[in-house]
Amino acid sequence: MNVLKPWNCVFLVGFIVFAVVRAAYARTAKGDKKAVSMFDGRERLLLAVMFPPTMLIPLLYLFSHWLEFADYQLPLYLQWFGAVAMAVALWLFWRSHADLGRNWSVSVELREGHELVTHGVYKHIRHPMYAAIWLWAIAQGLLLSNWLAGWSVVPAFAVMYILRVGREEEMMCNAFGDTYRDYMRQTGRILPRIK
Ligand code: SAH
Repeated sequence: MNVLKPWNCVFLVGFIVFAVVRAAYARTAKGDKKAVSMFDGRERLLLAVMFPPTMLIPLLYLFSHWLEFADYQLPLYLQWFGAVAMAVALWLFWRSHADLGRNWSVSVELREGHELVTHGVYKHIRHPMYAAIWLWAIAQGLLLSNWLAGWSVVPAFAVMYILRVGREEEMMCNAFGDTYRDYMRQTGRILPRIK
């Protein structure tokens, strides 16, 4: 089985950590009343599009031989690079959940009493969680030597990122006004702003 190959094992460990971090913080924010919700059909579709490349296809690749037709071999140094990218992605994913706390939500929403977070990993970039998912997508591509299981997450997340990030910032501007606009001037979206 593919899961027995060392780099696939590394990926599986990271995958479990990723899922545990998400589940733990999702529990913290569960049940809070929403003041604004844009969890509409488009959001549901975007989440549905993300499910196969982030969950279903990698697990199918790891635990069956069905996707082997799309296998290829990468040089060792790129796989090491993938492992480092995964470690950084996991750290950033965890820190952004920890810094957002109860203000996190799976969609574009504001809870009652929502607070603007500008500290921790939010100090220099506005979307550290999306930055972590971009890094994760690259790590998945470099660790799983399979075109489908490795790289399908890149186009899926690109669509989600492009359709969501502007809308989320618009919602934050409406809710926090000049405070958020000032914050936008001081920060970059997924990379720190060069002053
Ligand atoms: N885009 C952010 C957060 C993703 S979670 C990131 O990539 O890190 C999505 C929710 O986080 C949004 O619905 C919004 O309510 C909330 N959010 C985004 N930025 C925030 C901030 N700076 N402070 C508080 N909440 C924020």
